[in-house]
Amino acid sequence: MSTDPLAARLLSVIENDILPLTQKGVAAGNKVFGAAILRKSDFSLVVAETNNETENPLWHGEVHTLKRFYERQVGHDTKDLIFLSTHEPCSMCLSAITWAGFDNFYYFFSHEDSRDSFAIPHDLVILKEVFRLEPGGYARQNVFWRSAAIADLIATSDEPDRESLKSQDARIRRRYQELSDAYQSGKSGNAIPLA
Ligand SMILES: [Zn+2]
Repeated sequence: MSTDPLAARLLSVIENDILPLTQKGVAAGNKVFGAAILRKSDFSLVVAETNNETENPLWHGEVHTLKRFYERQVGHDTKDLIFLSTHEPCSMCLSAITWAGFDNFYYFFSHEDSRDSFAIPHDLVILKEVFRLEPGGYARQNVFWRSAAIADLIATSDEPDRESLKSQDARIRRRYQELSDAYQSGKSGNAIPLA
């Protein structure tokens, strides 16, 4: 699997499959986090979903995606699949991805981005308060899975792909900033425990 087609595919799934769902989710009062599952064989999409905490505070983008995946009973072995998360998963979602048997996940925004750019500090606060971990303190590669930031895939991709990946990356960041502003301005009206 070469890096460049994977990075391009992950960005296009975020932009074309996850973001439209998240736009609707945010309009309904949910957070901006989303996820998707792809086949390793041809990078085709199995399922994409978005945060649905207004229904259930456990429906983070990742867990909501896994819920849909198992509801559909598509019968895939998770070892054959790629897990994509728009934001670095929280401790609950890290565990959910692990329990579901994935051997990988990729993410676009980091925990620090969630805190600093999205005003959602809960991932890092929970890691510190519950697990006594500083930022970056969990094992990004371990016996269960290897995780990678899409930014790192882009940074190590070959010219001339890198420039187009970077411009797509910037375009996606702008859209998330708009959605984050919309979420933050409306969140006092929702009943999410950790809004
Ligand atoms: Zn989560």
